[in-house]
Amino acid sequence: MIVMKFGGSSVADAQRIRHVIGIVKTQLGRKPVLVLSAMGDTTDYLLQAGSNALQNGEVSIQQIEKLHLDTIKKLKLPNQARNEIISLMEELKRLLSGISLIRELTPRTKDFLVSFGERLSVRIAAAFCNSQNIPAIACDAWDVGFFSDSNYTGAELIKESWDIIPSKITPFVKKGILPIVTGFIAKDSNGSIATLGRGGSDLTATMIAAACKAEEVQVWKDVDGILTADPRIVNKARPVESVSYDEASELAYFGAQVLHPRAMQPCIKTGTPVLVKNSYNIDAPGTRIVASIDKKSVPVRAITFRRDVTLVDIVSSRMLGQYGFLAEVFSCFARHCISVDMVATSEVSVSLTLDAAQDITAVKKELSRIATIDIKTGMAIVTIVGNVKRSSEILARAFRTCQLIGVTVQMVSQGASKVNISFIVNDAEAVEVVKALHIDFFQSMKD
Ligand code: ASP
Ligand code: MG
Repeated sequence: MIVMKFGGSSVADAQRIRHVIGIVKTQLGRKPVLVLSAMGDTTDYLLQAGSNALQNGEVSIQQIEKLHLDTIKKLKLPNQARNEIISLMEELKRLLSGISLIRELTPRTKDFLVSFGERLSVRIAAAFCNSQNIPAIACDAWDVGFFSDSNYTGAELIKESWDIIPSKITPFVKKGILPIVTGFIAKDSNGSIATLGRGGSDLTATMIAAACKAEEVQVWKDVDGILTADPRIVNKARPVESVSYDEASELAYFGAQVLHPRAMQPCIKTGTPVLVKNSYNIDAPGTRIVASIDKKSVPVRAITFRRDVTLVDIVSSRMLGQYGFLAEVFSCFARHCISVDMVATSEVSVSLTLDAAQDITAVKKELSRIATIDIKTGMAIVTIVGNVKRSSEILARAFRTCQLIGVTVQMVSQGASKVNISFIVNDAEAVEVVKALHIDFFQSMKD
């Protein structure tokens, strides 16, 4: 068995749905389970409709209605499917009328509201499959074991889901029926719909794959997989063949087009491989995310960076050897709810980085009692994700590259996950550094 998940842009309209079912058809022999997101930007439209109802008392789902009705028409779906879709949209309008009357939109109601996107898309896809002689069934996630806590808009699945999901899914698969499951949603113990957070369909797919011990989970997106660098910066960026779960988690933090680290959790537990593929370019091999990578592979997986970073150097004004300095520094940041990203320390000083958007005036004032503080704005973090067992080689090459282009490295840190080497440079130099590193690690023949 395999799980295939298609995101919103992969099922954006009738033509895309046809294309997706074409891809599924080629894999029928591997007994697929399908997980779908809402069509295109439907989730955003639903949230917009909710806030229009709340703020202006307006009940309008024109865009959503048009998209789904056009799709039904273009896919020539039978009347029964059409009626089912229309009645869901009527229910949606009643919900919006309710919101407009009571002028209240709680997180619970918001989750109920956005659930319509996935409930509509799976019904359309299942009806289309059946019309193409692919026996399929549309499943609302709770009917196949997705139960969660009541943390609306960001719910966690409960552990019983691990047993219930396979008991519900496998009978369909054994009968040769294709289950098409709503991504993103679950029900809590009160029977209310809860969502797993934006982008949560990936988690639905990895959870089914892990719980059912599937051979692999394919996550179909609109990019060729994980790339060696941001293609807008490095035109020779290319897809990475395989990365480990740890490496993929690090890359996700930097906004790489991969799975959310949370979506990887179920597969990490079971070692289920994840294949990221491009539904717009099916011949591209994609990226495999697996438990561990062949030791002989290239040292670096990808190079990424983050701009608008502030570097804070804190030098203790106390005597050498005093304890509690770091504790005081970090508890001060915690008290002011400021999140710290990178840290490097010496005997008497600590350097750390934060997102430039955070105001640290109060922290500076408080800490100046025990330290000298130097704040440098306009910095960037450059991160090399790769095999840190080869860190000496990676560092040597990275620093040599910086030296060659005349860039000074301001701070270095090697992440605890042992797959991430990060360093700080001036923001204005970051793009040049990333380009030069990419040439050294990926475009030359040194490996
Ligand atoms: N439709 C939801 C969203 O847009 C869930 C998903 O696509 O994964 O966030
Ligand atoms: Mg979406």
